[in-house]
Amino acid sequence: MRGFFVLLAPGWIPTVKSYLYGPFFYTMQITKNSVVSFHYTLNDPEGQVLDSSAGREAFAYIQGHSMIVPGLEVQLEGRKAGETLVAIVPASEGYGEVDPSLVHKVPVDRFGGAQVEPGMQFQAGEDGGMGVFTVIAVESGEVVLNGNHPLAGVTLHFNVEITDVREATAEELAHGHVHGAGGHHH
Ligand SMILES: [Zn+2]
Repeated sequence: MRGFFVLLAPGWIPTVKSYLYGPFFYTMQITKNSVVSFHYTLNDPEGQVLDSSAGREAFAYIQGHSMIVPGLEVQLEGRKAGETLVAIVPASEGYGEVDPSLVHKVPVDRFGGAQVEPGMQFQAGEDGGMGVFTVIAVESGEVVLNGNHPLAGVTLHFNVEITDVREATAEELAHGHVHGAGGHHH
């Protein structure tokens, strides 16, 4: 047994816990500073797929650093690798409610003769900050611009499969992002 402990690097403390408390092995729970990898499908309430990690690397983030929408982060707290869950996130805990003051009508001649069509996006100043505005209509010589996030006001339905949970390294915490699979490679 002595050799077992000598071989442990400090990062392997969870394994010690597993030996002490777990009948099989200790699986790390998601908590602040966990690096969490997961696959997901995001649907709107009508079941339409808005986004999915299918066919891509699992998405990886650091828990407790507002790197994903707050309502999903809260529902992942305490979960473990291998778990699946359905997380229903109201807009207020997702991409926010729709703010009508972010919808503007701008005369089409302000675009300098450029062809403006619904779906086009522009960066524009809004109360001192820069935001992304999406053209939602062109009508009667006016362009209707929406500065809300495209998913503002939408209740988000996430189907999540947690594939990995580990502790973030000091370097990852300093950089504010995940290194390796699903994260930065540098
Ligand atoms: Zn980095």
